[in-house]
Amino acid sequence: MKNINSFLLFSIVYISFILLFNQTMGRKAIPGGMVPYLIIALPIVLASMGFYWLMNYIAYKKGPVKKILDTALEFEQAEVFKIKKNDNQFDPKEFLKGVKRLATILNQAWCENKMDLVRNMVSAGIYNRFRIQLDLMLKDKTKNIMADWVLSRLNIRSVEVDEVYETIHLELTAYARDANITTGLSPEEEKNIIENTPQTYYSEIWSFVRKKGLKTEQGKFLLSGNCPNCGGDISGKGQLSKCGYCGSIVNSGEFDWVLAEITQHEEWRPNLSSGSIDLSEFQASNGLVSRQIIEDRASVLFWRWIQAGYFNSRTYLSRETEKERLDTIALNHSGVHDVAVGAVDLNGCQMESGKIKAEVLILWSGADTNLSESLHREHYLTLAIQPSSNSKNGLSGNSCPNCGAPLPESDSLNCDYCSAEVPAITDDWLLSSIREKN
Ligand SMILES: [Zn+2]
Ligand SMILES: [Zn+2]
Repeated sequence: MKNINSFLLFSIVYISFILLFNQTMGRKAIPGGMVPYLIIALPIVLASMGFYWLMNYIAYKKGPVKKILDTALEFEQAEVFKIKKNDNQFDPKEFLKGVKRLATILNQAWCENKMDLVRNMVSAGIYNRFRIQLDLMLKDKTKNIMADWVLSRLNIRSVEVDEVYETIHLELTAYARDANITTGLSPEEEKNIIENTPQTYYSEIWSFVRKKGLKTEQGKFLLSGNCPNCGGDISGKGQLSKCGYCGSIVNSGEFDWVLAEITQHEEWRPNLSSGSIDLSEFQASNGLVSRQIIEDRASVLFWRWIQAGYFNSRTYLSRETEKERLDTIALNHSGVHDVAVGAVDLNGCQMESGKIKAEVLILWSGADTNLSESLHREHYLTLAIQPSSNSKNGLSGNSCPNCGAPLPESDSLNCDYCSAEVPAITDDWLLSSIREKN
């Protein structure tokens, strides 16, 4: 578009100049016809074009900053109907207002390295992935800045309903000056980098999940800062997944919508995750057997493995790995950096030695110490759970049983927040093995 505009401007200026010049000279004949005019005109026109391009470049680098007062809230009527069919009170605009609130807090949480602000509105997978990424970046002395962030549009694209869960996929579009900078710069140096970073557009698919068959209830909207079970005010209690009034795990997905996945728009394939794996024989006795929960847990365990490799310590894995398997988990990936996960897909479930075992394939990329370019990688994770596990966590992460705060990253047996005793190994899906796909 810019090139076409420049070309048009160039042509108009050039032709006008020739015509004007010709008019001024009147009928005085110059040997060579129009050629001398063209030769004189060309450098002048080129100089003005150069000036025009320079102005454009400066405008691109420094602004004008896009300011959006009202985020466009949009939805596909037919998709939303899949929810309204059983939940007439569901209001897509109200839902999107809640998403806007979450997006704003999540952006702040990411930029200020305070993921505790949003823990009780997102799944274990999202919370841990972001927290571990921030941890690794801090170790590398870098941080990400999203200056002049504006949310331009939220659009409900599709709705999926399976045996256990309902899922809303919505497209989020926003603008920001997105820059990775070294920590410890002076405010002037940071300001200079931000001013020289253009405000660019990006688009992501956010997937929200809740238990099938739930009904929307006024005043019990998690994304507005209320406990979705009792309606109590839980805003400002972002790190606690347990409601202080009624004891519910608020982001389990058992009561209301929870952000469970963020996918880059280019990588999103609608309806890719098949609901075709039959888990019904395990689901009767165990509430943690579902594709969504297993894939969310697998993503947490994968990131823990990356973190353990990065810091060369199995302590990061010990609370969520089968005790007898911990020493067999290889940590030969200490130099891997720039990790990005493309897909997490459940392959199947089976009974083995009295436990339910799930196999999950992770497609990811990362660069080795000596390489700058990222390589595509594929790993199988095996997760195991006792059939009798009666955890109520759902999509929420493992928490202190007393206050609902995140469990300590160390192997400490006491909660960092309330000092209550916490389990050495969680009653949940545990890592059993990890191996590279041949
Ligand atoms: Zn409550
Ligand atoms: Zn606690």
